[in-house]
Amino acid sequence: MSGLSVRDLRVVFDGFVAVDGVDLDVPRGDVRFIIGPNGAGKTTLVDAITGLARATGKVTWGDHDLLGRKVHRIARLGVGRTFQTATVFEELTVLQNLDIAAGWARRPLTLLRRRKAVPPEVEKAMETVRLSAVRDRPAGTLAHGQKQWLEIGMLLVQNAELFLLDEPVAGMSHDERDATGELLGRLSEDHTVVVIEHDMDFLRRFARTVTVMHAGRKLAEGSVAEVQANPRVQEVYLGH
Ligand code: ADP
Repeated sequence: MSGLSVRDLRVVFDGFVAVDGVDLDVPRGDVRFIIGPNGAGKTTLVDAITGLARATGKVTWGDHDLLGRKVHRIARLGVGRTFQTATVFEELTVLQNLDIAAGWARRPLTLLRRRKAVPPEVEKAMETVRLSAVRDRPAGTLAHGQKQWLEIGMLLVQNAELFLLDEPVAGMSHDERDATGELLGRLSEDHTVVVIEHDMDFLRRFARTVTVMHAGRKLAEGSVAEVQANPRVQEVYLGH
């Protein structure tokens, strides 16, 4: 099954063109980084893919057309998204957060049922995001990085196949960034990942393919070295 395909995507807010005819292909199992200055249209692109922004053009994930579908329907098709601020239930434990997310995936109204054993998919997700040791801690007491990882874990137990992560390492410590880079590697073993990211150091270390956006358009695409050497990218970032 093919991956994410975006064709001639356009998002207009009150006459302002935020995304202007973007094409993007992310094959299954790839990790794609999207960079670009503030206002380039990165978040709006992800909003359009996930149904939060109205768009024209064509977006497909595998065999499914995404444009025009409601947010929850797109999520059910395996498209998971995180925001810059993690949205977890602060008073509930790591395990309870994952359990709720898994419950939603299976049966929408199953909340906080007491289980004797932790379901295998929850155990596996906790292991993938390296939170097994803090499973009984309220999410509100976790470090910033751990909350981001918990959110990724919640998408895992909801059977997300395509992960769209909006600046996952923003505000993280050096060690948390490293751990997140390693987590992206584990995720990509059986998922497709699109990451909006600003941190050039992180990109150099963990990115293979980068798409650069500017003023709503795709400016360049290639390896980190290729896009850094691109004069148009240098002009946008460094003003020369
Ligand atoms: P990035 O994520 O690359 O920083 P955004 O996608 O957030 O850029 O924004 C792209 C442009 O669209 C910006 O100029 C922003 O002000 C504008 N924009 C984003 N969302 C809205 C909205 N809901 N209404 C009007 N303009 C918006």
